Amino acid sequence: MKIICIGRNYVDHIEELENERPKDPVVFIKPDSAVLPREQDFYLPDFSQNIHYEVEVLVKINKVGKHIDRKFAPNYYDEIGLGIDFTARDLQQQLKEKGLPWEKAKGFDGSAVIGKWFPKSDFKSVDDLNFSLLKNSEVVQSGNTRFMLWKIDELISYVSQFFMLKKGDIIFTGTPAGVGRVIANDYLSGVLENEEVFTVKIK
Ligand code: ZN
Repeated sequence: MKIICIGRNYVDHIEELENERPKDPVVFIKPDSAVLPREQDFYLPDFSQNIHYEVEVLVKINKVGKHIDRKFAPNYYDEIGLGIDFTARDLQQQLKEKGLPWEKAKGFDGSAVIGKWFPKSDFKSVDDLNFSLLKNSEVVQSGNTRFMLWKIDELISYVSQFFMLKKGDIIFTGTPAGVGRVIANDYLSGVLENEEVFTVKIK
């Protein structure tokens, strides 16, 4: 199983990090070892002083596909979720400045939080999903998938040109504005369409 992540998919988040608006989706991979086991606390790693949360809508791939045409993309997923792409922002900044790959800042152990899954038929449209992240019971990020630069079906089509998608692969579809730091004893919870779908304690 692999995790394919999309960067810079919401304009408000591009602006807050002062990044350029990309011509094509920004894509990176997290290894399967990045998955934070359910109910496990997140331990702040030693190599970073600035771990950020990024809440993101997730899509679970249900069969093998490559070079998937956008109009057939809906056939390749039937579950939607919500998660966190934990990022070592200080390390990512150093790597970016040197033009080096981001993996150490993005793919480390526990960096992928994956919440509960829902059949996509539970929702009117995957392109109109409200989601938010609360830190210590305060809303710190909120978004709606209609503000994505590339919608879910376009992302599936795009990434499948480079990576064969397999059953069980997960796509992290990018984060809206409001990313920020976590410190020990913070408590995060993710909400998808008014339902709490994950909680994480920071240690
Ligand atoms: Zn992200």
